[in-house]
Amino acid sequence: MSSYLKIRSLLSKKNKGRLTRFLIWSGFKPRVNKNVVSPFQKGIVVFSADFEMAWAFRYSKKRSDKAVEMGLKERANFPKILSLFDKYNIPVTWATVGHLFLNNCEKDVNGLAHPEMKRPGYFTNKNWIFNSGDWYQHDPCTNLKVDPAWYAEDLIDDILNSKTKHEIGCHTFSHTDFTYNNCPPELAISELDACINHAKAKGIELRSMVFPGGTAGNFEALKQKGFTCYRKPMKYHIDLPYIDNCGLVAIPSSLSLEKDNYGWSSDYHLYLLQKYLKKVSEYKLVCHFWFHPSMDYWYLTNVLPGLIRMVDRYKVSGKIEVLTMNQLTDKVISKTNFLNNTNIL
Ligand SMILES: [Zn+2]
Ligand SMILES: [Zn+2]
Repeated sequence: MSSYLKIRSLLSKKNKGRLTRFLIWSGFKPRVNKNVVSPFQKGIVVFSADFEMAWAFRYSKKRSDKAVEMGLKERANFPKILSLFDKYNIPVTWATVGHLFLNNCEKDVNGLAHPEMKRPGYFTNKNWIFNSGDWYQHDPCTNLKVDPAWYAEDLIDDILNSKTKHEIGCHTFSHTDFTYNNCPPELAISELDACINHAKAKGIELRSMVFPGGTAGNFEALKQKGFTCYRKPMKYHIDLPYIDNCGLVAIPSSLSLEKDNYGWSSDYHLYLLQKYLKKVSEYKLVCHFWFHPSMDYWYLTNVLPGLIRMVDRYKVSGKIEVLTMNQLTDKVISKTNFLNNTNIL
């Protein structure tokens, strides 16, 4: 943990909020990587969504009892979010839990859900605890109509039928921990194969990965299965992607779009978001906003529309472009020679 994070963890909630406001006011946040030369003509903004519904919360240490509630909240928010991005033709990379491709599923003769899938061993990590029963024990094994928090083929079709050309990415099949510690290679391959096959049935090729709960790992499996990029928190909020040892493109993660814990107004949120847009256009780097579609309704109605209008204004005035993770990756790879020649990598 950095000394900044150590000091921050000692502060009260109120003082954390004050410190963040001070960093924003003084220009320290968002942090910009000023040590790189941008190969891009303009700033690049990326949006990605962790599209996961009830699956994300099953083993949550804090909210496992709210899995269905969160799934239904995500479903209720979903059309509003999708139409907002569509209104301004702004693409999103929807990192989708593979099980959401399904319309229904059923238990086998032994009462087991998804016997074809590998299971993780029991584990705990920062946010989750899996210490009893079968990994798929919460899967209702019914259908979309009966349990709409667990299936979402309809919402995936809505994304595909949008006039905006969105990207469907991957968030594993069962929202599993993807770290080397808690996900052996066979499990990683089994999770990716299931996602790839369900996506393929809809004519989608998966390229972009968002690790569930930030559990990064199994990069070799991603490479082997044709993935090309993933989202990664980095030292700077506004930065350049880089190509890792496996040849995958690591795309910086800049800011989670969500209500704060400090009671900030919508105007203050928009003031902060504009700082990100100003800096990404000034330095021609990458700013990657990400969100959970289950976001707080207050944020969805009071902040997100203003952000999208702002992004549209920056886009129309030629200061930035908005790309999916996959489009950005293509661009990074096509600029690789330039990057190598300037010794950035
Ligand atoms: Zn199932
Ligand atoms: Zn997730």
